[in-house]
Amino acid sequence: MDLKIMCTKCLKTFKLGEKADNRTRLMEQTGEYFFRKCRNCGYERKYHVNDVKAHPNNAKMLVYTVIGIVFIVVVTLFFWGLGYITTFGFVIGGGFIAAGLGSQRTSSEKAFNSYKIQMTPKSSN
Ligand SMILES: [Zn+2]
Repeated sequence: MDLKIMCTKCLKTFKLGEKADNRTRLMEQTGEYFFRKCRNCGYERKYHVNDVKAHPNNAKMLVYTVIGIVFIVVVTLFFWGLGYITTFGFVIGGGFIAAGLGSQRTSSEKAFNSYKIQMTPKSSN
């Protein structure tokens, strides 16, 4: 999953460099409050760790889907060439595609987003 934050100026989300499975882990890396520069407009401001949102990683799903489709085509054509019609390619290829789609719906993003750090009052610095 990708950790992203929404810029309050251009209202676009951009990726954080940090990798963390949950908010507590992220806070260990960034601190509760941290400065971050927007990758779209360059506006820098202080964010709270609760402002971060986890998004599913689309690249992973895409890779699985491509592997699945290639598998279906290659296996089906291979057996077609031998004079057989088989659903084997669809079963395995479909499994890959399902796994890719499933990775979109993993609960890790939901868990990350639903868990919030208890906010401490903003200090003067
Ligand atoms: Zn921005």
